[in-house]
Amino acid sequence: MSIDPRKMPKLGFGLMRLPEKDRVIDFEQVCRMADLYMEHGFNYFDTAYIYHGGNSEKIVKTALVERHPRNSFTVATKLPGWCLEKPEDMERIFLEQLVRTGTGFFDYYLIHSIEDEKGYEKHTALRSFEWTARKREEGLIRHLGFSFHGTPELLRKIVSEHPEVEFVQIQLNYADWDNPDVQSGALYKILREHDIPIIVMEPVKGGSLANPIPAVKQIFSELPSAPTPASLALRFAGSLDGVATILSGMSTEEQMLENIRTFSPLSRLTPEEGSAIRKAVEIIRSTPLIGCTSCRYCCDGCPQQIPIPDIFRIMNSIRQYNDAPQEIAHYRYQTRNSGRAKDCIACGQCESVCPQHLEIVSLLADGSRILDA
Ligand code: SF4
Ligand code: SF4
Repeated sequence: MSIDPRKMPKLGFGLMRLPEKDRVIDFEQVCRMADLYMEHGFNYFDTAYIYHGGNSEKIVKTALVERHPRNSFTVATKLPGWCLEKPEDMERIFLEQLVRTGTGFFDYYLIHSIEDEKGYEKHTALRSFEWTARKREEGLIRHLGFSFHGTPELLRKIVSEHPEVEFVQIQLNYADWDNPDVQSGALYKILREHDIPIIVMEPVKGGSLANPIPAVKQIFSELPSAPTPASLALRFAGSLDGVATILSGMSTEEQMLENIRTFSPLSRLTPEEGSAIRKAVEIIRSTPLIGCTSCRYCCDGCPQQIPIPDIFRIMNSIRQYNDAPQEIAHYRYQTRNSGRAKDCIACGQCESVCPQHLEIVSLLADGSRILDA
C-alpha cells in the first residue's frame, strides 16, 4: 500500500540525538519522551544503523517494542551504504537490525544518505534498491525509500530509475531552500513533480534556526503571533504540500513539549510570517562571511595540519546562525585528529598560497577565541 502523506503523523521523533547520562542513552528519559509523544497521537520513530553507535536501534526494542503494542508505533531505519562491500552485507546488516530492534519488520526502510554519483553507483552495483524491494515483497519492509544529500540532477535521475521508491527523506528548511550547497527548494520541486511523499530532516537546521542571530530574532518577535523561532521553522516545512512527516531530533522533554504544541495541530504560515521568514533569509545571506572557497590549497603545507577551510565554514555558520555551542561541538569533532585554530604558529605558508588572499592567521586567532575557549 502506498504512502498517503495526509495520513502520516506530521511530527516524527528522530532518535539520533537522544538524551545521555554518563555517555549512555538515558533510558528512563527516552521512555518518558516516547510515551509523551505517543500520548499526543504521534507514532513515527526514525532511527538508523549508526545512530548512537547502534544503541539507537537497541533502544527501539527496550523503550518501544517491550513496552507498547507493535501496531501502536511505526519504525523507520536505514541501510548504511558505506558499510557495504558485497551484496551479502545487506542481508547481514538487515538481520542485525531486526535483532537489535525486535520489531519483526520495518514500517519504513531507507537506503541511507545517498550523497553523490559515486554513492549511487555503489548502490546500483550492489543492487540495493532491488534487494530492498524484495524485502518488501517478503513483508519485512512495509515502505521503501532513501535519504538524500545530493544534487537535484542526481535526485531526478534516481527517482526516474527507481519508480519502486515510495518516499524520499531530504534536508529541508527555510535557510537551505535556496542555499546552493543544499538546494532544498529544487529537491522539493522534483519530488512534487514525481508525486513522491517527503520526509523532512533538519527542519531547524540542526538546531541553528531555534536560536538565530539577534536581527532575525527581532523580526520574529515583532510578529503578532509571537512564535518561537523553532516553531516557525517547523511550520515552514509543515506548510508545504507533499510533506508527510517532519523529523525532529528531540533531546529533552521541554523540546518535545514545545514541538507537540506546534503540531497540535500544525497551522500553515500566515502571510506575515512568510514575509518575516523571507526577511530573515535576507539577513542571514547578507551576513559578512569569510570568503573561503574551500579549494584546500592551504591544507597540505600546514605544518600543524589545521583543517583551515573546515574551521572557516564553522566560523561562518556561527556568524549566520549564532548557534555557537553546537558549532563548538562540531569543531571539536572535526578537529579530533588534526590541529586546532589555537595550534597555528603563524608560519604564513597558507597565506602565501591562498588565492582569495585571506588573512588566515588573524582569522584563525579570531576563531580560536570562541572555538578553543
Ligand atoms: S600560518 Fe598557521 S594555519 Fe597557516 S600554515 Fe602556518 S600553522 Fe598552518
Ligand atoms: S587556500 Fe584560502 S580559499 Fe582555499 S581553502 Fe585555504 S583559506 Fe580557503
